[in-house]
Amino acid sequence: MKELFEGAIKFQEEDYLNHKELYENLKKSQDPHTLFISCVDSRVVPNLITNTLPGDLFVVRNIGNIVPPYRENKENIRSGYLATTSAIEYALNILNIKNIIVCGHSNCGACHLIYEDENKLSQTPYVSKWLELLQPVKERVEALRPDTKAKRIWLTEQINIEYQLENLMTYPFVEEKFDSGELRIYGWYYIIETGEILNYNMIKREFKAISAHSNYIKR
Ligand SMILES: [Zn+2]
Repeated sequence: MKELFEGAIKFQEEDYLNHKELYENLKKSQDPHTLFISCVDSRVVPNLITNTLPGDLFVVRNIGNIVPPYRENKENIRSGYLATTSAIEYALNILNIKNIIVCGHSNCGACHLIYEDENKLSQTPYVSKWLELLQPVKERVEALRPDTKAKRIWLTEQINIEYQLENLMTYPFVEEKFDSGELRIYGWYYIIETGEILNYNMIKREFKAISAHSNYIKR
């Protein structure tokens, strides 16, 4: 813990002072351009991997970067997955955010856990309940019959991103803003050990590494 307290001092003495004007401008309000939905995994650091500053990203994190389907929650709003759904609603309808990134990552614990037996999952009932949302992902992966565990996990992590993008479109205000061109939606897959980020192409339905040659960089 000592490191964190020392870190707080270092932040005030160095990083804060380097961006003092930015912090003062952010005093009254925020105007983030991007809703960043990522896993809670400690190895995924949204501001670091996007080279962004305070005020840029509205970050929603949960186990497995899951977007609960909208309709399910609408019918059952009291017991719905409100921490995530309310943040999406706030980002779109109050902050008028212009981009959404769903960012999954390599070696994701959530994508491993859904293949564990019930006995192990029964030790963590809240996690188990939450991961029920990944059941359709598991079914899609199993239908592809991956022949190794590594391939199964890799497929799960990437199909998960694709599935969460589909879930985003079940939110009427997301669909409306996306269709009218007001909102852009991206799926990213972050590879921890190499630092690479793959971007999902919704038309070709494939992931491709983001590089200086990428079309969206040239735009
Ligand atoms: Zn994860």
